[in-house]
Parts: sequence; C-alpha cells; structure tokens
Amino acid sequence: MSVSVKTPHEIELMRQSGHFLEQVHDQLASYIKPGISTKELDRIGEDLIRSLGCTPNFLNYNGFPGSFCISINDEVVHGIPSEDKVIQDGDLVKIDAGLIYKGYHSDAARTYAVGDVSPEAIQLMEVTKQSFFEGIKFAKAGNHLHDISKAIGAYAAKYRYGIVRDLVGHGIGTHLHEDPPIPNFPQKRPGIRLVPGMTLAIEPMINMGRADVAWLDDDWTVVTMDGSLSAHYENTVLITDGEPEILTLTKF
Ligand code: MG
Repeated sequence: MSVSVKTPHEIELMRQSGHFLEQVHDQLASYIKPGISTKELDRIGEDLIRSLGCTPNFLNYNGFPGSFCISINDEVVHGIPSEDKVIQDGDLVKIDAGLIYKGYHSDAARTYAVGDVSPEAIQLMEVTKQSFFEGIKFAKAGNHLHDISKAIGAYAAKYRYGIVRDLVGHGIGTHLHEDPPIPNFPQKRPGIRLVPGMTLAIEPMINMGRADVAWLDDDWTVVTMDGSLSAHYENTVLITDGEPEILTLTKF
C-alpha cells in the first residue's frame, strides 16, 4: 500500500474523526478507577463512540473482541476487555482507542496511573508521553519519516528504558493501518520524505525493563518478557506545511 496523501476535504474529515476520539478519551478517563472491570470501561467507551455518530474501528478488527484495547501494568498493548480484569489501586492502565467517522479513522492511546503509583512508574509514563512530543518535532514536510523514529528512540534511551521493537506506529486514513510503518527507534534507512496531507499514528510503547515482548495465548495481549511495567502514548498527527497538527489532541 502506498502512503496516502489526503485532500483538504479528507483532512477535514480526519480532523473531525480525531476530535471525536479526543472527546471519547477525555470522557472515559473519569471512569478509570479501582473496582471497574475493563469490560465495563469498554462498554462505556463504545457507547460514547456511538453516541457521537461514530463506529469503533478496533471491534472485530482481525477478530478483536472489544472496542478498546485495555492493557494493565506489564501488558504493553492489545489487552482484551474482560469482566475478570478489575482495575486496582496502583495500576498503570493503557487505553488504546480508535473510531471511524464518515469513513475516516483516528487512533490514540493514553496511559493512566490509578491511585497510588510508584514515582518510577510515573516517570515511565511521562517519558513515554514526552518521547511522542520529541518525535513530532520532526514531523514536518521535507523531513524523513525516520527522523521521528530517531528522536523518539533517543529520548527514551536516555532513561535506559526498553523501546518496544515488535510493534510500531502506522499511517492512517480510510484504513486503520496504512503505510508507512513508523518505528520508535533509530533506523539506518531514512524512510519516506514527509509531505503535507499525510496522516500518521505515532505511538511509542516503552518498557521499564527490557524491550522484549511476548504474545499471550489469547493471540492478542502483548506483555513484557521480563514482567516490567510498560507505557503507551499515541496520537493521530497531520503533516502540514508548518508545525504538525495533532488531530486527537487539541487541548493541551
Ligand atoms: Mg495505532
């Protein structure tokens, strides 16, 4: 698949899609408390998406059985919502969500510290988020794609964290996952040149320990091999003539 460059009309739809997803994240955040199951969060979140006239894009994607990926502590991404998984005080909870508005996808993830969380976990969460912002400093027309990868990886490496290599960001548009893949660590190859109208889901996944991950027997849930905590932060970003526009984060 070649990298799609959106028309002004498509960009407006992507912008609206992203804005709706931002609202979903903001509203769902208030429900993330000890005692709630990840299945209940998924139900509330799906209702929010549908109430905005949008469709959850994760639901049934390659058979995924939820509208949200909800991953706790050493789970990196793709946690399946379950009645049996109940949020506890001290958990690091990753909420990855996406939706479709008039055929256009958005994708964004947040990590939340629930209750009394260690300073080390808070730092992991903040560094992961900041690595995204370090990366998008290079998300400008004329730069190479892997300038973003290098900046994310260099920032996280300063903290000696494990930067997940088995999962990467991606282009996004009329499909959830489009070209190009966007690694979160330095590449020898410079990658494509960025052009205004490209929309990219940039999503560092960073472990407190080693970078290695494994897949559980449910074929979805990705966990750290060493059991260390993991954090995730993602937004859908538009390449423009100037500064990048974060479509899933307009208030910050
Ligand atoms: Mg994504």
